Amino acid sequence: MSTSMGLSSSSRLPKNRAVNRQQLFSTIKRVVVKVGSSTLTEGTDLSLIKMERLVEELSQVKQNGIEVVLVTSGAIAAGRGRLAHYFQDSAGSTLDPSQSTKVASCNSGINPVIPELQAAAAVGQIHLMYGYKQLFEQFGHLAAMILVTQDDFDHRQRYTHISDTLRTLLRFGVIPVINENDTVAVDEIKVGDNDTISAYVTNLVEADLLLILSDQAGFYTRDPRKYPEAELISTIIQITDEIRAAAGGAGTEKGTGGMQTKIRAAEIVTGAGEIMVIADGSQPLVINQVLSGREVGTLFLPPDATRRMSARRRWIAYSRPTRGVLFVDDGAKKALTTGGKSLLPSGIRHVSGDFKFGDTVSCCDGNQQEFARGLVNYTAQETKQILGKHTRQLQKIIGNFYYDEVIHRDNLVLLKSSQN
Ligand code: GLU
Repeated sequence: MSTSMGLSSSSRLPKNRAVNRQQLFSTIKRVVVKVGSSTLTEGTDLSLIKMERLVEELSQVKQNGIEVVLVTSGAIAAGRGRLAHYFQDSAGSTLDPSQSTKVASCNSGINPVIPELQAAAAVGQIHLMYGYKQLFEQFGHLAAMILVTQDDFDHRQRYTHISDTLRTLLRFGVIPVINENDTVAVDEIKVGDNDTISAYVTNLVEADLLLILSDQAGFYTRDPRKYPEAELISTIIQITDEIRAAAGGAGTEKGTGGMQTKIRAAEIVTGAGEIMVIADGSQPLVINQVLSGREVGTLFLPPDATRRMSARRRWIAYSRPTRGVLFVDDGAKKALTTGGKSLLPSGIRHVSGDFKFGDTVSCCDGNQQEFARGLVNYTAQETKQILGKHTRQLQKIIGNFYYDEVIHRDNLVLLKSSQN
C-alpha cells in the first residue's frame, strides 16, 4: 500500500492532487544515479551480472538522450572479496559489505579496521572501475573515473574544477563514474556515505533528478524489515520532522533502515529545487520505470519547484557542512527574509560552533528554526565579540575590520522551507 506524506501546496503541482509523474519525468535531461554496494554485490564480491544489468540500463537512458552521471559504491566490497584471507581474522571480517563504510566512519582512525578498509577500497576501486569501463564500452559508451572527498566540495575552487570537468565530460558524451576517495578520506574530510555525495553531485551538475537505487523499495512509514505493516510512501512534498523521525538514525529502533542519509540527500536536492527518487535497485528495469513516470519507489519533490537555485547558492547552502549557528533577533530575520538585507552584528544574539572566515554557517531565529545559510566574514571568536554591537563600534572592539556585515546578502541563501 502506498501513501503520501508532507503534502503542501507547490506552484508546479496541483494542490492536494496526485502528482503526474509522467509529465514530471518527461522533462528530465540529466540524471544522477546512485547505487549502493548491496545492489552490486553477490555474496562477498562484486556481481558482474548485476553490474552489467545496471550498465545496460544506463546506456539505454543515455541513448534516449538523457545525460547520465553514476555515483557508485562497491570498492570496499570488491577489495574485501580479493583480500578475504587478510580479513578473516580481523574485525573487518564481520562486516557486511554494504555496511562497511558506516563501520569505518564510526571507528575514527583508532581502530586498525580503517586502514584495512582503505586498503580494501584501494584494491577494490581498480576492479570496480575496470568493470564499469569494460561494460560501458560493451554498450558503446566511454566511462570516466572521478574520486572525491568532502574537502573537494568544501573548497570553492576545487568544487568549480570538479564542476568544469563533469560538465566537459557530459559535453563529450562520456559517462562519469564517481566514488568517494577512501584512501584519503578520513575524519574531517570524509563525506562518509555515497547518498550525500550523490546529492552534492546532483546539485553540482544541476541534474534534474537524483535516483537512489536502494535495497528497499522506497521510503516507508517504519522499517519494513521489522514491521510488516509499514507503508511505502509514494510522494513526499515536504521533508517534515515526522519524516526525519521516521528515517531515524542508523541502526535505531525507529529507523527505517539506512534511510537517514537518504533523507539528508533529499533535503540537499529538493532544497535546491530538484527532485529525488528512492527505488529498489534489484528490480529489473527500475531506472526505465522511474524515468517513464511509473509509480515506483518514493518521489521527493522540492518545496517550490518553480525556483531552481543557482549553482553558487547551491554550493553555499547545500554542498558543505555548516560549521556554526548565528541566532538572530526578529528584526534581523525580517531584514534578511523580506528586506533582502545583509546580516549585521547588531542583529545577532548568540553564536555557537567554531568557524572561520568563509565557512558556511546557519542563521536561526528565536525559535531555533534555521531559515538561512551564508558565508561568514568573521571567525566564531570575533563574532562573539561583536554580536549585538553597532557597526561603528567594530573598530574599537576588534581593531582593523574589513566588513560591516557578518554575512553579506550576496553570500546569503534563504532556505525555501522558511519561505512557505
Ligand atoms: N566508497 C565506499 C565504497 O566504494 C562506499 C561508500 C558508501 O557506500 O556510502 O565501498
